[in-house]
Amino acid sequence: MNSKIYEFAVIGAGLTGSAAAKYLSKKYSDVVLIGPGEPVNKQNHDGIYGSHYDEGRITRVSDSYYGWSYLADKSIKNYDDIQNESGIKFYSEVGTLSIGTQEYYNELITTYSKVPFDYTNHDDFNLNENFSKFNFPGNSKFIFEQNNAGHVSPRKLVNAQKQIFINNKGDYVDDYVISIKKSSNTFNIKTKTNLDIKSNKILICAGGFTNFTNLLKNDLPTKIRGRTIVLGEVKPKLIDELKKYPSFIHKPEQTNNNREYTYCLPAITYPNGKTYIKIGGSKHYEDINSYQMAIDWFKGKINSKEIEAVKNELNLIYNSDTFNNYHTDTCVTTWTKTIYPIIDEIENNLYVSVGGNGSAAKSSDYIGYISANYFAEHDWDTNLNRDLFTLASNII
Ligand SMILES: Cc1cc2nc3c(=O)[nH]c(=O)nc-3n(C[C@H](O)[C@H](O)[C@H](O)COP(=O)(O)OP(=O)(O)OC[C@H]3O[C@@H](n4cnc5c(N)ncnc54)[C@H](O)[C@@H]3O)c2cc1C
Repeated sequence: MNSKIYEFAVIGAGLTGSAAAKYLSKKYSDVVLIGPGEPVNKQNHDGIYGSHYDEGRITRVSDSYYGWSYLADKSIKNYDDIQNESGIKFYSEVGTLSIGTQEYYNELITTYSKVPFDYTNHDDFNLNENFSKFNFPGNSKFIFEQNNAGHVSPRKLVNAQKQIFINNKGDYVDDYVISIKKSSNTFNIKTKTNLDIKSNKILICAGGFTNFTNLLKNDLPTKIRGRTIVLGEVKPKLIDELKKYPSFIHKPEQTNNNREYTYCLPAITYPNGKTYIKIGGSKHYEDINSYQMAIDWFKGKINSKEIEAVKNELNLIYNSDTFNNYHTDTCVTTWTKTIYPIIDEIENNLYVSVGGNGSAAKSSDYIGYISANYFAEHDWDTNLNRDLFTLASNII
């Protein structure tokens, strides 16, 4: 591998990087994808982490923002092809309920006029009759997307994209990058296990660790938020019923007894054989400012303010009788000023696609597609406002 010079190197084999590498490998023969797989044991792991070590991410077309609706719509349309091509099933089309205030409803309907989706709403769908285990405030407005919505396993989606990349004869290196140097026109990429990889062009898709692993001369203007989720272990007698429930996003009135803005997955069976309903929120988070803080956060060594708040919400929406016990897990989200990923050339032949803004899992296939096109050919989908994705627009 040492003497070979790749045309394209993608750094970060998470949701975006694996999708971008897949699209590059469909067109080009000399692509390398470099990034570590999931740690076997999160607590004892000596190395970096990613934001996709889970079984449930909500997917839906509706969104308060046009760009995110568009990216989701384009991605969801590809799920079947990715599943068929890789042989890995990652998508459960159980539907998604977006519920809360009139204002939230209006936002989704405004976006609907630009990116239409199938839905029913509070006027023509009886929530109590269909999903009697839900307890939302009585006056809630909602959009229910029964089709093209539900949840994806981010872990399996990454595996599926990597599998297609490897099937297309892409080279995958299961390691992480500790330095990038340029001599003449070639980048020399050094990994933790001392591999030297050479490439003419680099695309960095390293998520929350981009600024913490010595990849760039200047930090990207991103903010890393430490998030905590609560997993309620579902009682066996309820599992079959609650697996058929939709994912939901709940934006209640803020005056309503301080109810939390939450998102929640239905019952999903995890690799340990147990079945959980997962809930997370948006109000409480920890700013993560360094490599060590990120590592400590993923290992669960930093106190989280989020746990009690979202656990209370879980027990308001599903009766607490639903659960045997509760667990917590940690993850990070990467935020930008425009709330869209930075997809740009930040120095000659060095590109980034970073900043999921808590929304990129479901849309990672199309984010990978537009990133690969911009990286390889400076081509852009003009349905998306290019300005929202540039480094310049994201300088704080
Ligand atoms: C708790 C939680 C809930 C979420 N819920 C949803 C949801 O319901 N729906 C939704 O659409 N999105 C959701 N998201 C957001 C989504 O998971 C992220 O937007 C997505 O993971 C971002 O993808 P990424 O490829 O940018 O980053 P990641 O998936 O984190 O991938 C980055 C990869 O880069 C690797 N890397 C880092 N540094 C290096 C290096 N130096 N060398 C090599 N590799 C490196 C990492 O190991 C990692 O594998 C959620 C996120 C969290 C944390």
